[in-house]
This record gives sequence, C-alpha cells and structure tokens, in this order.
Amino acid sequence: MSSRSGSAPSLSLGSLESAISSLKSCQSCINAGMDVAMNVAFDLVETQTKVEDENCMENVMLEYAALDRELNQYIWAVEGTVNQLKRDCPETIPDLQSMVQEKLSTVQSNNCDADLKKNDKFMQFKEQLRSLKQQYGLQEDSAVGETEDQVDEDMIVTQSQTNFICPITQLEMKKPVKNKVCGHTYEEEAIKKMIQSKHKRKKKAWCPKIGCSHSDVKLSDLVPNLALRREMESSNKRVSDSQSK
Ligand SMILES: [Zn+2]
Repeated sequence: MSSRSGSAPSLSLGSLESAISSLKSCQSCINAGMDVAMNVAFDLVETQTKVEDENCMENVMLEYAALDRELNQYIWAVEGTVNQLKRDCPETIPDLQSMVQEKLSTVQSNNCDADLKKNDKFMQFKEQLRSLKQQYGLQEDSAVGETEDQVDEDMIVTQSQTNFICPITQLEMKKPVKNKVCGHTYEEEAIKKMIQSKHKRKKKAWCPKIGCSHSDVKLSDLVPNLALRREMESSNKRVSDSQSK
C-alpha cells in the first residue's frame, strides 16, 4: 500500500493530458498533408495528365484518412482513460497503457474501409476533383452512385468559370466567336478547325461546350463576339493599369 496513492494518479493524469495535446498537434500535420495531396491531384487534372495518376492521389488521401482515424481513435482512448481515472479515483495507479489499449481495440474492431471515404477532407477532395474534370471535359472514372447531382454542378461550374476561356483550347481567347444557335463562344481558329475536320469526315460538329446538346455547329452560325472582346480588352487594360501603378 503506497502512501502516495492520493497524489500519484494525478501526476500520471497530467502526463496523459499533455500527451493528448501533442497528439492533437499531429492532426494539423495530417491536414496539411491532405491539402498537398489534393493540390497535386488538381494540378494533374489541369495539366491533363493521365487519370491513373490522380487515382494514385486518391489512395494517398485514403491513407491520410486512415491515419487521421487512427489518431482520433487514439486520442479518444486516451481521453476516455483520463476521464475514467478522474471519475473512479483508484487507490493504486492502474496500468494506463493497457487501459488505453483496451479502449482502442474496442473502437478499432468496428472500423471498416468504407468509412474512410466518409472523411470530410476526402469527400471535399472527390467533390472538387469531379467538378474540375467536368470543367476540363475529362471523363469521370466509372464511379457508381455519384452522378445524381451532376446537372447542378454543371451549372455551378459554368457560372463560376471565367468567360474568357475557350472550351476547346482551355486558353484565354484572342478572337472569340459566338455560335448564334446555342449562344456558346469559342476561339475562332479552334472552332473552325474543329468544324472543318468533322465535315471532312462527313460528320457533324458537336458544340464543345460541356453540357451543351447542340449537335450541328456550322461555320455560318459563327459571329464575332464583340461584346466579349470589349469586355476582355477592358479587363486586360485594368490589369495593365494596375500593374503600371
Ligand atoms: Zn453550345
């Protein structure tokens, strides 16, 4: 029977509590790592790199999500142990490590891989990746059950996308021309090339704008988009004005 039984557990509690706070600082490292993986994946889409490469980033994200879960569950187990000790005020110091371990294995026994995909950051990643791919006209890999909201997303992407970018070249347009039929605008040279090469093969040219169902774009339907040209000129002027100041 120890004479220090009253004060000793509180000392151990103190060390557990400081362990919790350093564990929590690990969480910000995991978050930062996930941000990096997300940005790499988005860059891959933007540079039109092969789709397998950003699938690899998806696996990295899942690994981070697994780390995140492990850490959270460990913190939960340590916190639970601390609370239990505070509540029970045991005479002798229990084996803290086995108490933590016991709680940890209980919670880990319910883990399943599907839960990792419900990680907040991972879902955010998938969401942004999907809208980026739509914006760049890439095919979403055959993900099941993820198509429901695509119409809404198309609209959001179209609205937020800058109007100066040609849907064919993905570059800022120099000579924007508007299709009188569906109202979409493209770089003059790019759309003309596209129509001519389709017509050579006796095919109709689809409107390259994502979400547009117009299936027969003709050269005669194209008119210079003067309003947009003016808008672009004044925007470029604003940029150069602010740079010269
Ligand atoms: Zn169109």
